[in-house]
Amino acid sequence: METVRLASYSILINGEPRGHITPTRGIKQGDPFSLYLFLLCAKGLSSLLRHAIGSGQLHAIASCQGGVQVSHLLFANNSLLFCKATPGDCQNLLNILALYEVASGQTINRNKTSIFFSRNTKPEMRGVIRQMLGAQVMEDYEKYLGLPMVGGKSKERSVWEVGDGRSIGIRSHKWLPHPSRFKDGADQDLRTAYQVAFRLNHPHSGEHSFASQDQRLWKKLLSLNMPPKVRTFMWRACYNVLPTKSNLAQRKVQIDSKCSFCGKQDETIQHILWEFPFARNVWALVRGKLQKSNFVTEEFFMLARHMVHRLGRNDLEPWAITSWSLWNTRNRFQFKHVRTHPCEILQQAESLLEEY
Ligand SMILES: [Zn+2]
Repeated sequence: METVRLASYSILINGEPRGHITPTRGIKQGDPFSLYLFLLCAKGLSSLLRHAIGSGQLHAIASCQGGVQVSHLLFANNSLLFCKATPGDCQNLLNILALYEVASGQTINRNKTSIFFSRNTKPEMRGVIRQMLGAQVMEDYEKYLGLPMVGGKSKERSVWEVGDGRSIGIRSHKWLPHPSRFKDGADQDLRTAYQVAFRLNHPHSGEHSFASQDQRLWKKLLSLNMPPKVRTFMWRACYNVLPTKSNLAQRKVQIDSKCSFCGKQDETIQHILWEFPFARNVWALVRGKLQKSNFVTEEFFMLARHMVHRLGRNDLEPWAITSWSLWNTRNRFQFKHVRTHPCEILQQAESLLEEY
């Protein structure tokens, strides 16, 4: 990060750029690239933790007996780290954080750091760990960002004890926030429905255990023969980080979240790339299995999982490139008020695929 120091800013005053401000904190604030720098740093921390777990220096917590092991959850502006309440684990965690601080140039704010203990941690051990970590203890550990910190007695209340959803009755158990949103059908299994419910409740969740479960999806998507810009685009679409109006509104930008084309529905990634009538017209023109695919989901990520599962390379490549073209069509309409004919979108996508 030492090399990232070239940014400077000007401010528009009466339409003219003035001043020459050099930021001394943070990584290129305001530069679209800074998000990727942040991800690179976060990935570094993630790798250090994973390495420590692999070599037995740290111990992750199990979501349930024999369930998924969780060592960390990285959110947009919060990180949760899990380890055993022992001096050994704590010291190793401190070493990792110290290394991360030196490598990234970032510093952990102890005043904003809290410790959560499980109910069966002995008071003496709590004291030792609190001293080692030098952070305050949060007593209210039932829920944090909507996640139960420790598995509760009630299965309906606990994300962890639900596991991957395979053993849960879709209607017999009280776990869906809006049961009517989920239609019965071959295309939506319980696992998918559970993950949709989780994502609806945690729209800002960053890297979490589902991302690692999707290695097969990433492997297949990233191995497609397509330009890097399309690959990056698909990644951003799956992680729901494209600047759609709905995403901007959620991030408190003063904007009407309705779609500019239809004016009726919220402009989500799924709406633009798959659902709204114009997109349907485009997909109806594509040859192959895509033409007849009408998978229903509220999340583009779920659509991607469905596609990767059902389609071969010959259909996946046109799907990704046409999605990218649809997004560009949306941008042309949004910013330049230019309308594009569905046939034109397909032609552009086809020629891009052939060129590559
Ligand atoms: Zn629309």
